[in-house]
Amino acid sequence: MKVLVLNCGSSSIKYQFFDVKETLVLAKGSIERIGTSSAILTHTRHDGDNIKITGEILDHNIAIEYVLAVLLSKNHGVIKDKNEIEAVGHRVVHGGEDFSVSVLITNAVIKTIQDNFELAPLHNPPNLKGIVACQSHLPGIPQCGVFDTAFHQKMPPKAFLYGIPYQLYKSHKIRRYGFHGTSHLYVSQRAAEFVGKPFNELKIITCHLGNGCSMAAINNGVSVDTTMGFTPLEGLLMGTRSGDIDASIPLHIMAKEGLTLAEITTMLNKHSGLIGISGVSNDMREIIKAKEEKHVRSKHAFENFCYRIKKYIGGYIAALGGLDVLVFTGGIGENSYEVRKETLTDLEYLGIKLDEEKNLNTAGEREISSADSKVKVLVIPTNEELVIALDTAKIVSEIKQQTCLL
Ligand code: ADP
Repeated sequence: MKVLVLNCGSSSIKYQFFDVKETLVLAKGSIERIGTSSAILTHTRHDGDNIKITGEILDHNIAIEYVLAVLLSKNHGVIKDKNEIEAVGHRVVHGGEDFSVSVLITNAVIKTIQDNFELAPLHNPPNLKGIVACQSHLPGIPQCGVFDTAFHQKMPPKAFLYGIPYQLYKSHKIRRYGFHGTSHLYVSQRAAEFVGKPFNELKIITCHLGNGCSMAAINNGVSVDTTMGFTPLEGLLMGTRSGDIDASIPLHIMAKEGLTLAEITTMLNKHSGLIGISGVSNDMREIIKAKEEKHVRSKHAFENFCYRIKKYIGGYIAALGGLDVLVFTGGIGENSYEVRKETLTDLEYLGIKLDEEKNLNTAGEREISSADSKVKVLVIPTNEELVIALDTAKIVSEIKQQTCLL
């Protein structure tokens, strides 16, 4: 089955077009700066052919038209007819409490995504714009929604409730939701395959360390706790987000500096984290370079980043009552041996022993713990798009089968 995977943001769309049976990405690309006269479309075909086009793309509807045009293009495309696209899978950021698995998009699902707009005002509206655009350009082609929050929906109340009046959970849906669920699920399942044990018999901690960072504690295949919360702001230190802070700090700063709600939100989401502490960059490579050049604030940022992961590892081992596998993924988790080393130093008493040489290896899925480490430490490159393509293909195949049986 050929599946188009879409990740529609407020001003960008990323796409990958899969041949699911062959697990092959036939083409992939992105459109940046949607809403401007200088939008940029970049497109790469599986054989390496690539193009870059700049021009006016004023909304998501037109952007999807361009994606389809480039997939159909005589010189750069991979299909001859739109109907070769058998299904579309969308990344949808917030499914609230309504979705714990991926679903076929129906009118009722669209209504629920809309109901969750207030939980993800920056993400769910553009996600829905992509869905509506596909309905108009690909009529009759089934579409599925794969939610960032879904995998964490089985967390118990002790993990998802905040210590605030319970009424706020009921009236405003204030609770921990967690994000990056597609990635945590994918890498933990791959990890189980890697160690050759059933997914539902393992205690796993996953560390997704990219621009956004989160961890999950997974017990017998179920996410029982995760670091991101009501929004993706909570938890680990990130490129530009603060992660955990005392809830009274924003209120104090607002009063002291006369900041508005929008300004403090921007400060915590865009000017904090690695960039906030270091003043150098939100990019871990730059932080490490500056730290090596003895830039003190970059050293603080690097150590703070790793220390917080270490604290959560300890906490999650306690929450899980033990640990079999620890997984690193995301741009930093997959590539930075420095971060992995700093984080895992002195955890031998918890059964975690890093093999420093293996930690320097760079390619693919790999073990980086020593032979006598009780806990297996793995690096598993994430592939959220593949999960979306596979989930979509599965849902659509099942529906086709049911329709045949009728
Ligand atoms: P996103 O969350 O946007 O998908 P990525 O998963 O691509 O982001 O991760 C981006 C982060 O990965 C950046 O902080 C970048 O510095 C970091 N990164 C990429 N390669 C390396 C590397 N070799 N060493 C350290 N950090 C790296």
